[in-house]
Amino acid sequence: MFDVIIAGGGIAGMSAALILGRCRRNVLVCDTGKPRNSASRALHGFISRDGINPFEFRRIIREELNEYPSVIHMEGEVVDAEELHESYEIRLADGRRYIGKYLLLATGIVDRLPDISGIQQYYGHNVFHCPYCDGWEMRDQALAVYAAGATGVEFALKLTGWSNDVILCTDGKEELSQEQLALLDRHGIKVFTDHIISVEGEIGGIFQIRFQNNTVLSRRALFFYPSQYQASFLAEKLGCTIASGGGVEAGKFQQIKSHLFVAGDAARSIQLAIIAAAEGAEAAFALNTVLHKEELSE
Ligand SMILES: Cc1cc2nc3c(=O)[nH]c(=O)nc-3n(C[C@H](O)[C@H](O)[C@H](O)COP(=O)(O)OP(=O)(O)OC[C@H]3O[C@@H](n4cnc5c(N)ncnc54)[C@H](O)[C@@H]3O)c2cc1C
Repeated sequence: MFDVIIAGGGIAGMSAALILGRCRRNVLVCDTGKPRNSASRALHGFISRDGINPFEFRRIIREELNEYPSVIHMEGEVVDAEELHESYEIRLADGRRYIGKYLLLATGIVDRLPDISGIQQYYGHNVFHCPYCDGWEMRDQALAVYAAGATGVEFALKLTGWSNDVILCTDGKEELSQEQLALLDRHGIKVFTDHIISVEGEIGGIFQIRFQNNTVLSRRALFFYPSQYQASFLAEKLGCTIASGGGVEAGKFQQIKSHLFVAGDAARSIQLAIIAAAEGAEAAFALNTVLHKEELSE
């Protein structure tokens, strides 16, 4: 029996594993190796690692974890989890089963890209969702926001912190009020309401947004507001509450219920790598504390 099983070996899961390994806890990390930011060229805003290649970042993490013999890292998808008496049993896709006194869900989330022809190849080069992650690199450039309604207005206004040249594309969805239009106008944001049919042109350079009415706009980047869903169904299967944004609701120290924790993007919080790492560490701190208390009372 493991002290803790961690489903998902991304930044949150590995951060938890590091702290738990340092506490000499027996930990099993199961991971499918598909982190959310796999389209990204560089990880920004992580102090001491600003701009690092995400693959290199993961390599360093794995290397550091190798120092801790009580942490086992296993490739494999956790396809099922079941609550037992004061423990959890997980099943991997190949049928292997493991029991842990505690289970930490760190399986991340998936972003839905806008339904625009050709967009996938531009993700991480011209198409972004997070100005905190990529806004600095796109500063003072011609930017577009793809979002409708109040969200679009708020997002477009936010981007003026990075560039004075921002347009809002509502893609034929939800009309804006006169007040919203006036507010955008005051900040120099033009609104394009027509349906976008494709993006084309140079990957990583100036590219073109083509509208249904044949208007073509050249922009350096398009920021969208993603809808998201859990990367695994484990949280749902275990009866966790999923908030409207797609994240799992958790309490203090990332605890969902007595033997179940969640960390990283899978949880409902700000989705930055450093916060995923912090949540993993926070959960690990709480996990080691409860494990230690249990041992003292035996
Ligand atoms: C394009 C892009 C660029 C980004 N850029 C930045 C940036 O510059 N700076 C920043 O701070 N943040 C950035 N982010 C956000 C950052 O990537 C996330 O906040 C971070 O990856 C969250 O870590 P996590 O461990 O919660 O999830 P993930 O990194 O997604 O890791 C989850 C892991 O769980 C695994 N997994 C899922 N389901 C299962 C299962 N059933 N069984 C086993 N394993 C499973 C996955 O394969 C994955 O390895 C970016 C995100 C994207 C999409």
